[in-house]
Amino acid sequence: MFKKFIFLVINLSLFASFPLIKTPADLVGFFPQSITDIEKKKNEVTQEFIEKLEEAIQTPFEKSSFSNVVIPIDTALGQMGSTIELFQMLSMLHTNEKVRKYLSQSAQELANFEEEFLLSHPEVYETLQRYYDNPREDLSAEKLYYLKNILQDLNRLGLSFSDKKRNRLIQLKKKLNELTTLFYKNIIQDQKFIEVDKDDLKSMPENFLSQLKKNENGLYILGTDYPTVFPILSECQNKSVREELFHVFQNLGYPENLPILEEIIEQRQLLAEEFGFDNFAQFQLHDLMIKTPERAKEFLNDLFAYASKKEQVEFEELINDLPESVSINESGKMEPWDIAFCQNQYKEKCFDFDNSYIAEHFTLDTAVDGFINIFEQFLGVQISKEEVNDLWAEELFALKVSKQGELLGYIILDLFPRPMKYNHACMCPIIPAWDSENIRYPSLNIVVANFPAPTSESPSFLSLDNMRTLFHELGHAFHDLMGESDMILTCGTNVKRDFVELPSQLMEEWLWEKDILKKISSHYETKEPLSDSLIEKILSSRSVDIGYFLERQIFFAMLSLQYFSQNVPIDTQKILKDVHDHVRNNYQYYDKDHRQASFGHLTGYGASYYGYLWTKVIALDFFEKIKQEGIDNPLVGNTYIEKVIGQGGKKDPNEIIQDFLGREVSLSAFLKRTGIDCQ
Ligand SMILES: [Zn+2]
Repeated sequence: MFKKFIFLVINLSLFASFPLIKTPADLVGFFPQSITDIEKKKNEVTQEFIEKLEEAIQTPFEKSSFSNVVIPIDTALGQMGSTIELFQMLSMLHTNEKVRKYLSQSAQELANFEEEFLLSHPEVYETLQRYYDNPREDLSAEKLYYLKNILQDLNRLGLSFSDKKRNRLIQLKKKLNELTTLFYKNIIQDQKFIEVDKDDLKSMPENFLSQLKKNENGLYILGTDYPTVFPILSECQNKSVREELFHVFQNLGYPENLPILEEIIEQRQLLAEEFGFDNFAQFQLHDLMIKTPERAKEFLNDLFAYASKKEQVEFEELINDLPESVSINESGKMEPWDIAFCQNQYKEKCFDFDNSYIAEHFTLDTAVDGFINIFEQFLGVQISKEEVNDLWAEELFALKVSKQGELLGYIILDLFPRPMKYNHACMCPIIPAWDSENIRYPSLNIVVANFPAPTSESPSFLSLDNMRTLFHELGHAFHDLMGESDMILTCGTNVKRDFVELPSQLMEEWLWEKDILKKISSHYETKEPLSDSLIEKILSSRSVDIGYFLERQIFFAMLSLQYFSQNVPIDTQKILKDVHDHVRNNYQYYDKDHRQASFGHLTGYGASYYGYLWTKVIALDFFEKIKQEGIDNPLVGNTYIEKVIGQGGKKDPNEIIQDFLGREVSLSAFLKRTGIDCQ
């Protein structure tokens, strides 16, 4: 494999893999659009990877320095990692099927090549280790932290293993890469849908119906994309439509993905054992903030104690006043397809508000302008909307971000559903905020979501949940944009996985402030902001089902911990049922629910899904401090940049938290702001 690449690239001229993106026009040449482009990029990055690593390992020990040993290795690994991410992301966004396939295959090839190269060149690891043991220069705390982490990561590739053991590992990882890629592909390619009559959708608003496609018999097609599923589950009066759509939604990727998932779990168990751990959760969490699965479980159990009490109160309220068409079953439980519907009806009744009407105050333009308005002030940056053309789809645009005249980077937004597009929301880093030899590379990332698309009659309206998603993903994007570093592997969101959801969840919090909702809302026709009374209702309605929401997150977190910490082979269905019955016992377990087959986090996040709640607790603690000093106060914004997002992955997250808060994290802000403390 390695030789083949050498042969392929030997006559190519040298190109740096990261361009300097200064204008939206520079983006066009950067994103590969054809198989030739992909091939060219693949060759460039491979050549540079080999050259940089050779530069490092061929440096005589007596001449070794941070800049001629560590930096080239960082450049090689960083550029390769970014290219793999770019290919993977584009393979889930591109509209051309051939290109999509080739991107996915190329990402896989590069990942395999990188791993095999490193495993067959233990001198990369040895060179770094030798330098770390005897650096011959004073190293800052940041550089020492970097070295410790990169050695740890390389060690996890098995570079200190015997040849035989290392070969076994190569095969294992290759297999795992293939399985995880397949798992993702099966989710995306599963286009399950149901067809229903117009009469079945009587309760649905006109702007929802106008977005739906019809089949040749005039029946409406309900797909499994978010903008279809969530409104149906919460607003459709027809129980059987809700049930049918719930069924197909919870069975995306099923049945293909079930054996694949079980195999991923088994292979990861083998991987963990190679490193002397009992299970994959132990292996994975060992390097994260939380350190052990036991501590993660303890954290979740503590939260569960609060959340379940609150949820019980909510549930009793809910069943006291059920909609006519819904009843509780003989075990006293609610059917899963009734939950969102009942919650929505309850909210409408108690708070007398209509989600569609609220959404009319947040067209996509209003939402983005609102975001710009808040964060230009708080972060002291300039943000402008820019057109981008000739990329992978028509409906894209970008945000250009500068600070004091210096371009920090671009965020490309791809926000509407398309067939075969990635069906969740995410931020994908493409070019890091890298400082290399006095050049600050403007960073580049992509924010992906699936909001309701505009129609010929109406613009795109964002529900409050869509707004939360937008702020969340932009929170990641700004972390990526502002986390400047001399080393690619510590730029931006290259942080511990159980720290990465902090800036994103923190940014969501601005939305739940009265003044902010007033300031950024504007009805698309009247241009009036939300009324004070409606804002009050929105804010008080948030805590109405927070217990339910937290339990749901605890469910996913416990499920992923269980999947990766039990003896293999495991029965994913049985564990799903057990965790469900333990955590969500007011809701009927549905035995045809195979949501694990489309639980994409299981591959990327593995056992670390708890990280969402873990960082939520930290985020609310941070927000309380920010609020004391002013949520529009650029001074605290600047402190936040300097001490938190500007640090990228250069510091231990525990130190970052201590630096910002001046103390350890406490649960009290979380309990207070979520409203689960008052029992
Ligand atoms: Zn996130």
